Amino acid sequence: MSLTIYNTLTRKKEEFIPVESGKVGFYLCGPTVYDYFHIGNARPFIVFDVFRRFLQYRGFEVTYVVNITDVDDKIINKSNQENRAPKEIADEYTKAYLEDLKKLKVKLADVLPKATEHISDMIALIRELLDHGIAYTLNGDVYFSVEKYNGYGKLSGKHIEDLKAGARVEIDERKNNPLDFALWKAAKPGEPFWEAPWGKGRPGWHIECSAMSMKYLGDRFDIHAGGEDLIFPHHENEIAQSCGTGKHAFAKYWLHNGFLKIRGEKMAKSKRNFLTAREILKRYPAEVLRLFFLQKHYRSPINYSEEILDETQVAWHRLQNFYRELNAKKLPEINEIVPDRLSAPAQKFFRFIEQNRSEMAAALEDDFNSAKAIGKLFEIVKEGNRLLNSEEISTDKQVVLNYLKKKLEEFDDFLGLLSREADNSSSENDLEAILEILLEVRNELRENKMWELADKIRNRLTEAGFSIEDRAKQSIIKKNKS
Ligand code: AMP
Ligand code: ZN
Repeated sequence: MSLTIYNTLTRKKEEFIPVESGKVGFYLCGPTVYDYFHIGNARPFIVFDVFRRFLQYRGFEVTYVVNITDVDDKIINKSNQENRAPKEIADEYTKAYLEDLKKLKVKLADVLPKATEHISDMIALIRELLDHGIAYTLNGDVYFSVEKYNGYGKLSGKHIEDLKAGARVEIDERKNNPLDFALWKAAKPGEPFWEAPWGKGRPGWHIECSAMSMKYLGDRFDIHAGGEDLIFPHHENEIAQSCGTGKHAFAKYWLHNGFLKIRGEKMAKSKRNFLTAREILKRYPAEVLRLFFLQKHYRSPINYSEEILDETQVAWHRLQNFYRELNAKKLPEINEIVPDRLSAPAQKFFRFIEQNRSEMAAALEDDFNSAKAIGKLFEIVKEGNRLLNSEEISTDKQVVLNYLKKKLEEFDDFLGLLSREADNSSSENDLEAILEILLEVRNELRENKMWELADKIRNRLTEAGFSIEDRAKQSIIKKNKS
C-alpha cells in the first residue's frame, strides 16, 4: 500500500513519493538547550521518532537529523542571570536533553548537528543571499528582504500585506520592511560571536535550520517537521532563505504536530504551566507517556491532566500484563504458521490477528494515524487475553499466541510501548511485577471486604514511597515524587 502524508505546504494529504526512491531525508527542529524540556516538547520528539522508525520498518533507508540550538537569546539571558558562560549552560542542557530522550525511549537521530559547529555553513548561505540581492546589511546585522521573495507566506497561508498591516512583529525603524528578519545579529558586548565578512556576530535562529538541514540532507529532501507553532515564522523563513536564490528546492513534505494543552492552554515555558519530562518520568513509566501521545493523531491537540495520564496508565498495564503473561507462558517455538493445519478456533484467531495487523499498518500508512493503530492493538490484546485466560489452551492456540507475541514485538520496535527485558534492568522489571501482584491481591481483598488487610498493604507501600489511589474500577499505584 502507498503511504500518504498531510503536507502543511499544500494543505492536503498527498501520496509520499521520496526524492530518491527507497530513501528518506527527514529533518526535525530540535530543542534550544537552556532548560529541561517539557512534555509539550516531548511530543514532536516522540511522534516523529516513531514515524521515522515506521518508515524504516516499511523498508526505507532513513536519514534522520535533529538539530540542537546552542546559541540563542534564551541561552544568553540565562547565562546573564546565572553568571555562567553560555557554553556551560548549553552543554549542561544538551546532556540533560540526551538523557531524557533515552529515558523516553526515543532513538538517537543519525545526525544531531549543533548550531555553533556549523557557523561557516550559515555564513556561506547568508553570503549567497546577499550576493543575490535578497538580503542586506545594516550596521553589522544582516536581514532577509521579505518583499523580494515572492513565495513568502506560502507555507503559513499568510499574506505580506496583512502581516504588515497587523505588524506586531518587532518594529525596527531601520529595516526596509518591518517583516524583514535577521539572518545575522551584530555582536553585543559580552555575547558569543563569530567573525563574518560583514562583521562580528552570531546567526539568527532560522538560518541555522536552513543551513544544517541542507548540509546533511541535500538541496532537496523529503520531510521537514516540528510543532505547529513553528509554521510561522520559523518554517516560513526557512523556506524563504533556502528557496530565495532559486538554487535550492528544499523540503518536499512539511509535517506539524498539534499542541499539548493544559487547562485549555498551550503548554509553554513562557506560560509557566509546564511539567518537565524529567518530573513526569519519576512518576510514570516512559511507555505511559508514549501511549498518551500515540493514542491520539499527531495533528490533533491533546489535553494533559493527571487523570488522563492515570487512565492511560491503566490501559498500558493491560497491554504490558498481556505481554508479560505471553512471556511467562513459555509458548512453543515456531518458524512459520500454516493456517490450514490449525484447528478451526486457532485458525479463526490467527485470521483475526492478521486482519488487525494489516489494519494497523494501513492506519499508519494513512498520515501516520497512530490513534487508529493503537485502537486495533487493544482489540488484539482483548481477544488475546480471552484466549490466554480460557480454561485449556490447545497446542495450536499456543502456537498462534507465540506468533502474536513476535508480531507485537515487531510493531513495538517502532512504537516503543512495551517494557521489554532489554529495556530495563531486571531489578526494575521485578519491582514492577511485584507491585502488580500486590495490587492484584489487594484488589481481591477489597472485593471480599477485607478492609483491614487492604489498608495495611496500602500503608506499608506509602511508607515505602509509593501511593495507591483507589478508583471505581481499579487501583493505581504511583511512585511518589522524589
Ligand atoms: P522549543 O524548544 O520551544 O523550540 O520547542 C521544541 C519543539 O517542541 C518544537 O517543535 C515546538 O514546536 C514543540 N512544542 C513546544 N511546545 C509544544 C506544545 N505545547 N505541544 C506540542 N509541541 C510543542
Ligand atoms: Zn528549525
